[in-house]
Amino acid sequence: MNSDPLNSDPTHAEPKSHASAETYVAAIAAGDRAMLARAITLVESRNPAHRKLAQEVLEAAAELKRTGLRVGITGVPGVGKSTTIDQLGINLIAEGQRVAVLAVDPTSQRSGGSILGDKTRMARLSLSPDAYIRPSPTSGTLGGVTRKTRETMALVEAAGFDVIIVETVGVGQSETAVAGMVDIFVALLLPGGGDELQGIKKGVIELADIVAINKADGDNVKRAERTAANYQTALGLLSPRIPEWQPPVLTISGQDNLGLDQLWALIVQHQALLTRLGLRESIRAEQASAWLHEMVRDELWTLFLRSADGRKALTACDAAVRAGEMTPSRAVDQILAAIGLGARETSADGDRA
Ligand code: GDP
Repeated sequence: MNSDPLNSDPTHAEPKSHASAETYVAAIAAGDRAMLARAITLVESRNPAHRKLAQEVLEAAAELKRTGLRVGITGVPGVGKSTTIDQLGINLIAEGQRVAVLAVDPTSQRSGGSILGDKTRMARLSLSPDAYIRPSPTSGTLGGVTRKTRETMALVEAAGFDVIIVETVGVGQSETAVAGMVDIFVALLLPGGGDELQGIKKGVIELADIVAINKADGDNVKRAERTAANYQTALGLLSPRIPEWQPPVLTISGQDNLGLDQLWALIVQHQALLTRLGLRESIRAEQASAWLHEMVRDELWTLFLRSADGRKALTACDAAVRAGEMTPSRAVDQILAAIGLGARETSADGDRA
């Protein structure tokens, strides 16, 4: 299998492969990496003809009930995400774990060469038979990219990976999306030059279960420690999401493998706490439910945009609203009527807009 038929022509009506969902999942469960890659390509495919099989594969994968520890890692470009993930992954593999790395980066237009790009970014990890690195889907809306990443996560879990690291670039919305699909969320920051607290404004810190100041090596050590102390103080002012877990701040060096054992120990400790509090499953259930709602919203919007009547009504009403000739509320009624959903009497929560 030299080229993937599903990738080569997105408009192709039928997948060339006639493998059934069971065949896919049996191969994935048995550690067949080529089938795992093909299954991921299948769930990423935008061709409606692939959707049924993709859904069946996901259902069969879910039946295995295999799950891993899902770790989100965020940080601005250059903070050292790939260096740190490469080293952390190598450390975990040395302990006997299998590690998958997925990326969420809707801003990136990395195409064709992205796989190579991500593999060179994590040079050692990509060579390990116990690691699996999958770059961000190359295009799509945040919702689309998020969905593909979640589904890919389910597939790598079925393949028996113990730790799934989801990496995202520090762009507000993608961080929220990743925080909503992982068990623990780690923010990587740089040793600061002054009192500017990066990430506080953007709300990244509120999402973080652990904050790690990277590049705490060489001349940077003192500065990194000061930055860590500043963050610890700043975090003390926010109310933690779980009262029992005040997000800790530590210094690490991904490059020199310093503090990564401590980072991992904190991740394990956090998971043990969630388990003890009985929160691990309920958080995942909450995330699955939020995802369902988000997908319904996404799908409805996609369906709406496919309706010529809907788009026409939206354009007309939009002009009228802009001109101050129609209230947005009235416009919504008209647009919904145009697609046959009638005027809204009451919305689901009984609130009349
Ligand atoms: P990413 O964009 O967040 O994935 O960052 P990279 O891992 O590509 O690292 C960006 C740059 O920072 C590279 O030149 C790395 O060599 C360097 N770097 C990464 N981690 C460390 C670290 O712990 N210490 C030092 N001194 N440099 C680092």
